[in-house]
Amino acid sequence: MEDKNKTPGASARKVNYQKILDKLLEELSREGRRPSLLLHSCCAPCSSYVLEYLSEYFDITVFYYNPNIYPREEYAERVREQQRLIGAMHLAHPVHFLEGAYEPRRFYEMAEGYEACPEGGERCFKCYRLRLEEAARAAKDGGFDYFTTTLSISPLKNAGKLNEIGLELSEEWGVPYLTSDFKKKNGYKRSVELSEVYGLYRQDYCGCVFSRAEAQKRRENSDPRTGTSCRRPEEADDEKRRSEWRSEAV
Ligand code: SF4
Repeated sequence: MEDKNKTPGASARKVNYQKILDKLLEELSREGRRPSLLLHSCCAPCSSYVLEYLSEYFDITVFYYNPNIYPREEYAERVREQQRLIGAMHLAHPVHFLEGAYEPRRFYEMAEGYEACPEGGERCFKCYRLRLEEAARAAKDGGFDYFTTTLSISPLKNAGKLNEIGLELSEEWGVPYLTSDFKKKNGYKRSVELSEVYGLYRQDYCGCVFSRAEAQKRRENSDPRTGTSCRRPEEADDEKRRSEWRSEAV
């Protein structure tokens, strides 16, 4: 029998996290259970599809903990959009909102020595861990049945690494991690559609000061990769560009 909490090692990329999630959702439907889920969200656009997809199966609380976001005004705007979206969406069950502390100092301490890493590299893996660890802690404190993050919806986020970190933290904190690869099943495409439906603010950089500078540089060089997790729809279909960017990131 499969150990759902087994930490993937070298074969992490071969694990089909979507299939694991599908199996769990089937079980929940069959058993008529609706567990609680603390859903870490990076931004409203990325959470839109995940909320639509999972609210039927879980009692969801969106957890907004993103000390990486620069500057403070951008952070505040993303929080507002997240709250607005939760209020506007017609979901199967009510969704709650929990904001973590905005503590950029923790992000900069974490990023020290990794400032020059390109987006998608080692700094990002540490950034995933920082945010997921806080989600695991909040899930433990709040007595949630599961925790997870919206981050895997982005074609530029490493779903294997996110799940590996999530499963490690799951063992450490004693809260099951909901493995996922939300970009599957056209999740990313649907998030773009929902962003349009709800008129969401879609930032053109991942969040931190370093990704902002990278986006700025790309704009100056007329490189169309102007966005990251929330790129323009036409960029979402550019598979070649995505794989090039991913291979730089590993
Ligand atoms: S690029 Fe995004 S994931 Fe990477 S460190 Fe910056 S905010 Fe975090």
